[in-house]
Amino acid sequence: MSNAVLLDGQGRQIDYLRLSVTDRCDFRCVYCMAEDMTFLPRDQVLSLEEIHRVARLFVGLGVRKIRLTGGEPLVRKGIVDLCERIAALPDLDELVMTSNGSQLTRLARPLAQAGVKRLNISLDSLNTLKFRTITRTGDLGQVLAGIEAAREAGFERIKLNSVIMKGRNDDEVNALVDFAIARNIDISFIEEMPLGHVGRSRGEAFFSSDQVRAQIAQRHALIDSEESSGGPARYVRLEQHPRTRIGFISPHSHNFCSTCNRVRLTAEGRLLLCLGHENSVDLRELLRRHPEDDAPLLDAILAGLHRKPERHEFSSEGEVQVVRFMNASGG
Ligand code: SAM
Ligand code: SF4
Repeated sequence: MSNAVLLDGQGRQIDYLRLSVTDRCDFRCVYCMAEDMTFLPRDQVLSLEEIHRVARLFVGLGVRKIRLTGGEPLVRKGIVDLCERIAALPDLDELVMTSNGSQLTRLARPLAQAGVKRLNISLDSLNTLKFRTITRTGDLGQVLAGIEAAREAGFERIKLNSVIMKGRNDDEVNALVDFAIARNIDISFIEEMPLGHVGRSRGEAFFSSDQVRAQIAQRHALIDSEESSGGPARYVRLEQHPRTRIGFISPHSHNFCSTCNRVRLTAEGRLLLCLGHENSVDLRELLRRHPEDDAPLLDAILAGLHRKPERHEFSSEGEVQVVRFMNASGG
């Protein structure tokens, strides 16, 4: 077992890498993408081999958890094989994934068998029409069937992710909580982040985690919890339903940067040091220039981490500060 520890320039331990395996997606969620998206040409996206190489290098440096995300990771051909190879890296504790659920009836079991331990599935509405409006192309029935398939596939844990927006789905908070309770799964509520121009002002739809929590508290006795899943979510437990945890991811109302433990790799191989800043390191160029020699890549990663910003600078007024879309950021 390697005991390498990776520290950034602020002395924070970086043990978590989020890898975007594609910027493509079968949905066009209103908070994530514009309706009419142009995706990266294929040769600009890292190959599966290149993604595996980056994963291996980061694990060697001290990363213990990797999340595969996107875009929609399950629309990438060869994803199950990639999972199997990353899960087999010695010293990696956990391979996990975030998915929109649309392909899970087909892929949940192969993913669990490949070594994906936990799955986050996005679900913003239980109403067929609203679900379609928010995702623009998504089919609620297909995602619900995917969630059932995931429950049967043997993951250690499943969590739902819901982005709550004023006037769109803020009336569904308790229905989503009930859905999670009935299935003994967790749910996190996410404040919308201002990434990319999506054709409307973000401030209009801002709905804070405190407002979400107040709605839940009208129906359930909540117990604050100190537990962490290694991410920015703060958790509460429900007194009457101990098997469901509720998380709040609140980039606006609760700054979590001081305990940040992660970096992201975009589908085109840019190492993003902070979701709220543009500075990044182009690893693709180095991967391709040095196919046999890891030293230049390791040097670039370490130099980049030294420059990881202290904090993001999102504001809830909804001004776009980062022009990248979420699907290009490794969500
Ligand atoms: N396609 C997968 C999915 O939807 O779960 C994985 C990628 S998606 C970018 C990862 C997560 O980011 C999803 O839970 C999605 O709801 C969330 N997300 C996307 N854009 C966001 C934004 N602007 N603000 C907050 N969360 C966002
Ligand atoms: Fe696709 Fe996920 Fe973005 Fe929705 S949030 S458009 S499912 S990448």
